[in-house]
Amino acid sequence: MPLLYADILPSTLTIDDLINEVKTYRPADTEMIKLAYDFAADAHQGQLRKSGEPYIVHPLAAAFLLAKLKIDPSLVVGALLHDVPEDTQVTIEEIEKNFGADTAAMLRGVTKLGKLKYRGVERYIENLRKMFVAMAEDVRVMIIKFADRVHNLSTLDALPKEKRQRVAMESMEIYAPIANRLGMAEFKGMLEDLSFQHLHPKEFSRVKEMRDKFLAGQEAYLEKIMGMIRAELSKNGVRVLDVHGRKKQLYSLYQKLVKKGWEKEQVYDIIALRIIVEDMSDCYAALGIVHKLWRPLKGRVKDYIAQPKPNGYRSLHTTVFAEDGRVVEFQIRTKAMHEEAEYGVGAHWHYDERGAKLPAKDIGWAKELAKIQQEVLVNLSDVDELKVDFFQNRIFVFTPRGDVIDLPENATPIDFAYHIHSEIGNKCSGVRVNDQLVSLDTPLKSGDVVAVITDKNRKGASPDWLKIVKTHHAKTHIKSSLKNTSLNNWLKYILPKKK
Ligand code: MN
Repeated sequence: MPLLYADILPSTLTIDDLINEVKTYRPADTEMIKLAYDFAADAHQGQLRKSGEPYIVHPLAAAFLLAKLKIDPSLVVGALLHDVPEDTQVTIEEIEKNFGADTAAMLRGVTKLGKLKYRGVERYIENLRKMFVAMAEDVRVMIIKFADRVHNLSTLDALPKEKRQRVAMESMEIYAPIANRLGMAEFKGMLEDLSFQHLHPKEFSRVKEMRDKFLAGQEAYLEKIMGMIRAELSKNGVRVLDVHGRKKQLYSLYQKLVKKGWEKEQVYDIIALRIIVEDMSDCYAALGIVHKLWRPLKGRVKDYIAQPKPNGYRSLHTTVFAEDGRVVEFQIRTKAMHEEAEYGVGAHWHYDERGAKLPAKDIGWAKELAKIQQEVLVNLSDVDELKVDFFQNRIFVFTPRGDVIDLPENATPIDFAYHIHSEIGNKCSGVRVNDQLVSLDTPLKSGDVVAVITDKNRKGASPDWLKIVKTHHAKTHIKSSLKNTSLNNWLKYILPKKK
């Protein structure tokens, strides 16, 4: 997989490129892709991107990325249609009529997630990440959002600087960590490197130059090492499916360099060699053979098969002194582990070169997903005592600017107002939820956009509010406001009037 998406994107991308790509792994599904393209092109007719190109270029590019990664054609269809409900006159009902309930459900998720905005306010980060996972409900929605975001990041230049920064920061702080937690290394790498380029252009060039220099002239050497290990493995009856090299992603190399004080000799995995074998026992056999050929570095053997990383990553790692004493890292895994390492929870929607998919897990996939989601939600939380059921009883609502506020179930606009600021609460005179004026005791639902109307002449909280609020926070502030008001009323009588 090339580093930056722009490298694999043809400069004039057409529907035929997309069809040809899907043909390489799912020839039977190309008809549907064509229909979705025509439908989307029609809906976006006359719309232009900031770059001046016809709008359809964007969904087509997002779909092409998924096809390049050999992702299930139902998601390629989703990517083609992903901006239709939000940005055109065509409704989700019409999509449902043409492409079925499943596609429509997926696109509802994509549209909902489109509301999320991160503006660099630290205290919203965790909420946003949780929100993203909770609202997506479906891993496919996230995969489509990642493809959408990768293309947007690779075409950021057409946007004003401020917007560029916001999108890059949001991708780095929200999208990439989620891709990581879901074990989607492929997307994590692209999202990080594309954002890195915009957020820290100087460091990006420095690291890229360093890596390119390191790679130059290594190819012949690595070919030789790969040839040697291939021969030795087959001589010993280890069933090898593939041996290949992978270069470290730039942002992850950057982080490592920073940690090691920019001494690149301390970074052993700028390139790693991967050995993909048939089953788990072949993994350990292969590790033994690597160690028989070359002496391992002390403390560098890692068994992530026996002890997977928190995001589910499994592999054996070892670093050896290979020919001429040069240091080389090996990563050994089965085909299934490899798919899971690259696509994480999305592995089930990925096809290999032969058009085969990872089998669904033995328990129902829906159940599996629900479990994964809960785990992610728990993992995403920094608070240890935060329980899943705690989270299930939370709702997430938006400010009109798109910031996410986390409240308990059945919280009211008054809770929301006090959450923003105690003065907003005290001066609250009305509220709009999704642009509709509603009463102050209306329970809020996840995804509501809440705008508080304040009245600066308002004296303070109303005692009635105590009966309708759900949060301790709001109660405390209402009580103290009531105390102040009655105190002020009383003081009015004994103190001389202010001039
Ligand atoms: Mn889009």
